[in-house]
Amino acid sequence: MKYFILFGPPGAGKGTQATAMVENYNLRHISTGELLRKEIADGTELGLKAKSLIDAGALVPDEIVEGMIESVFRKTTGVNGFLLDGFPRTVAQADALDAMLAKNSEEVTAVVSIMIPDEMIRERIKHRASIEGRADDANDDTISNRIRTYHDKTEPLVEYYKGKGKYHEIDGTGTIEDVRKAIAALMDRF
Ligand code: ADP
Repeated sequence: MKYFILFGPPGAGKGTQATAMVENYNLRHISTGELLRKEIADGTELGLKAKSLIDAGALVPDEIVEGMIESVFRKTTGVNGFLLDGFPRTVAQADALDAMLAKNSEEVTAVVSIMIPDEMIRERIKHRASIEGRADDANDDTISNRIRTYHDKTEPLVEYYKGKGKYHEIDGTGTIEDVRKAIAALMDRF
């Protein structure tokens, strides 16, 4: 099985690009953000716990997302692999992922990182707020916290995966089509 990680700051275009990636390579898309929003919409206990953290621009506890990921791995059949979107988001989650995969003698295939500068993060999120209506996209303080959380907790993963020789960066500032082509050229190598 192939395990691709789709990495990048909030608003980088991960969700947009994920659709083509899963279709072209027959992968199962796992977006932890989407899974959490579904829990919230369903009014589950987990969703209730996650909502206040997400609305504040903070991360939900590692154990929660790790459990969600492992459960999708276990249930999924008939694909060539997985596209992890929004996970891992901390070094602890990356370690947990390695441990989960190692149990089945598997490993991360490659990290596809879509990079955009901080100013563009704000623009893109504002634009998305007007289309998708996500509560965490609508508030300036929440957006600032998400950008800070990204730099503090998630960006260390760049060095983590560089150290393992798995990190591949794509310029996310071009058009959707430019970025799609760059990602396809990269993924064709695996
Ligand atoms: P974006 O990447 O656009 O910020 P996501 O949809 O990936 O949005 O995530 C929305 C929110 O869900 C995050 O700000 C965070 O609170 C929570 N979340 C998603 N994935 C994780 C994760 N792996 N660990 C902790 N919290 C997460």
